[in-house]
Amino acid sequence: MTTPALPGSPFLSQIGSELFLEATPLQAIATDFGTPVFAYSKSAMLAALAAYQRAFVDRDALICYAMKANSSLAILQLFAKAGCGFDIVSVGELRRALVAGARPERIVFSGVGKTREEIRTALQAGVGCFNVESEAELTVLNDVALQCSQRAPVSIRVNPNVDAKTHPYISTGLKGNKFGVAHDRSLQAYLQASRLPGLRVIGIDCHIGSQITEMDPYLDAMDRVLDLVAAVEATGIRLEHIDFGGGLGINYNGDTPPQADVLWARLLQRLDERGYGNRRILIEPGRSLVGNAGVCLTEVLYLKPGEHKNFCIVDAAMNDLPRPAMYQAFHQILPVTARSGEAIRMDVVGPVCESGDWIGRDRDLSVQAGDVLAVLSAGAYCMSMASNYNSRPRAAEVLVDGQDVKLIRARETIDDLMRTEKLL
Ligand SMILES: *Cc1c(COP(=O)(O)O)cnc(C)c1O
Repeated sequence: MTTPALPGSPFLSQIGSELFLEATPLQAIATDFGTPVFAYSKSAMLAALAAYQRAFVDRDALICYAMKANSSLAILQLFAKAGCGFDIVSVGELRRALVAGARPERIVFSGVGKTREEIRTALQAGVGCFNVESEAELTVLNDVALQCSQRAPVSIRVNPNVDAKTHPYISTGLKGNKFGVAHDRSLQAYLQASRLPGLRVIGIDCHIGSQITEMDPYLDAMDRVLDLVAAVEATGIRLEHIDFGGGLGINYNGDTPPQADVLWARLLQRLDERGYGNRRILIEPGRSLVGNAGVCLTEVLYLKPGEHKNFCIVDAAMNDLPRPAMYQAFHQILPVTARSGEAIRMDVVGPVCESGDWIGRDRDLSVQAGDVLAVLSAGAYCMSMASNYNSRPRAAEVLVDGQDVKLIRARETIDDLMRTEKLL
């Protein structure tokens, strides 16, 4: 028996009563590594990347994995080996990418608040491009580059003012957002950049949001950016590359985002029609490369029936899986070993002392204490956003390759949590 509606990953399947990731039963991972634990399918990540790579065959293109989605070293290593560049947003991410084997010239540095120190470190490392998000940052980047006797490669992140039709916290391409240079100021910003001797203008970029499930916002953003490319180049500034950012959604709960290759076939067609088909293209996908490759396994600690609500209290919490608390996000939750008993409607919650600490609401589950649940679609923006709130050590992570399971991050210890602290 195979369950029809396992969202997302063809590498997750139910065989008999057991859930498998690739050829590995999830129950065995929980037993061997303890809970909570994140398990990622190597094939799922490489398949997600391959969909993008197919779209860009015969094109001058670079896929820069937006590593804030999941910055675990082994995952970065996998993508670096597969030819990816990286989109980073801090010097911490820069170090991780370099340790994992990234080539610095394939790294783009995004983010609205780069410090001088971060800019200097990234310049010295030789990153491929600074995606600059404000006029003020242009000035600072120019200063630091001149101090280092370098010319910083620059792209300006423009805000195309399109509605990505996603959650307000993950929508970034509308006028009211803190991101990017406003569309109607972009040309001025390019003229400013072109006059600064410490800068070398090489590109333009945009990123309109995350968990985008429609094509139209991308097409709109592309049109708006290409209009700007034309305007900028009319002033004599040449843009070597166009970076269209990331943002493609995944299936959490019946969402139907376009496949990466289908989306990009359409976008590249538009690019060709508008005469920019030979331009170097960069993209910065994050969630769509890793989101549905991962599950979080958590053990049921207690069942707590109530008059209004039944609670299923598990050993993972908002510090491990922050998306429900932050964005009211939905993750599918399934027992890794199905029981035959009648399902009861319950809220799946963690042990953290916050009412916002819930993982799933009103789920119909047949479970008992000691059972293991799989929280699906947990590969992106879970471990990378995990915290130590309530002095909870962060979970372990494993990489699944067929029947092979490798520990890629040991469970944090309580001593780890106190390592940098000092008693009076
Ligand atoms: C977060 C981010 C991305 C990746 O977004 P996804 O929705 O995970 O694909 C790409 N570019 C920038 C600048 C980002 O901040």
